[in-house]
Amino acid sequence: LADASLNCIQEMDGKLGAFLQVDEEGVRERARALDESGVADRPLAAVPMGIKDNISTRGVLTTAGSRILGDYTPIYDAVVIEKLNDAGANMMGKTNMDEFGMGSSNENSGFHPVRNPWNPDRVPGGSSGGSAAAVASGQVTFALGSDTGGSIRQPAAFCGVVGLKPTYGRVSRFGLIAFASSLDQIGPLTRNVEDAAMVLSTIAGHDPKDSTSAKVDVPDYLASLTGEIRGLKVAVPRELMGEGIDAGVKQRVQEALKRLEGLGATVEEVSLPHAEYAVATYYLLAPAEASSNLARYDGVRYGVRVEGDNLLDMFHRTRSTGFGDEVKRRIMLGTYALSSGYYDAYYRKAQQVRTLIRQDFESIFQTYDVVVGPTAPTTAFPMGEKVDDPLTMYLNDICTIPVSLAGLPAISVPCGLSDGLPVGLQIVGKPFDESGVLRVAHAFE
Ligand code: GLN
Repeated sequence: LADASLNCIQEMDGKLGAFLQVDEEGVRERARALDESGVADRPLAAVPMGIKDNISTRGVLTTAGSRILGDYTPIYDAVVIEKLNDAGANMMGKTNMDEFGMGSSNENSGFHPVRNPWNPDRVPGGSSGGSAAAVASGQVTFALGSDTGGSIRQPAAFCGVVGLKPTYGRVSRFGLIAFASSLDQIGPLTRNVEDAAMVLSTIAGHDPKDSTSAKVDVPDYLASLTGEIRGLKVAVPRELMGEGIDAGVKQRVQEALKRLEGLGATVEEVSLPHAEYAVATYYLLAPAEASSNLARYDGVRYGVRVEGDNLLDMFHRTRSTGFGDEVKRRIMLGTYALSSGYYDAYYRKAQQVRTLIRQDFESIFQTYDVVVGPTAPTTAFPMGEKVDDPLTMYLNDICTIPVSLAGLPAISVPCGLSDGLPVGLQIVGKPFDESGVLRVAHAFE
């Protein structure tokens, strides 16, 4: 399995750019150890995986897609990595991403962009575009991504694979390089729903090292894949099926809803009255948190240092050289929003709107089991199309961001093609009901 995966990476990744590091030596070492120890009782024995490069891996370069961490090698594993290693999975390497998770196209990688395996002139989505492309092209069986505002689901949709963002708090963030701590969650990208259930079973659960991880029992996710959804109540927010959603995407989603009805579900239109404020809210909160989280990259404690005339000059040069344009833009936005005199007008207001958005979902979930709609308003867009226009790029997150602000579990599952490119169906569940989300996705798949 290790050889097959390595060969595939060697053959394909020169064109795709899905990997930042391939840990060939480590791969072979782990494969030998697995062979020797006998692996039959391990649930993910020898399964080749890719790990997004913002997840810490002991002894393996972890850059978060940023030049400022270009030489950073962690001395510890993230908790999700410990768990996957215990399950026997074999990490092929670290996957490419938008710098610190900031982007929707992978063009913001500090190293090189990723190409969409369906069409090399299209983006793979972001920020977990490397993970999505690596799974879609068959280089690895599954990958981990992280999702702050859509970064697992949207690339999964663009690359025609399954992507699951668990409930905030379901999976430990210990060892995940922070972007926006109140939103970040790690989750799997896979080729089918059953694999997503297996990987989630491995990585989920309370972790005393992450104070925001939830003390909620982890059910048997595989057992929830019954194929049975008769009587399920599906809500479709009209705000996520209206203006701004491509006609081709809308059509595939409407067909998907018909299929859910065919399987015995009832489908009704509902409203998320505050959804129109979600993108604005997110692009205040996420940069504000990022500006604080990224203050640690000062040339003293981590990664790259550019010498200067004095300490302040060294900070300045290090950060000016090390960070890319989008990261700088967000640090400035976030610092501004948090500055004294503006806090109430921006950050506090955004937090209040976040609560309203969460309440919109809560009231829908009093009547319905899942909320369904498109994962993204478009299919994979051409490389270069939005990279110079941050606002259009931000608007591509319109379907995923409300769900992130509410902290809910959601999956993107392929629902056909539009003009030859994959369309994703997003299925959103109640807090900690990953089982429900997986069950619906599996029945639909
Ligand atoms: N595209 C969004 C952003 O740029 C979401 C990124 C993410 O989920 N990490 O912030």
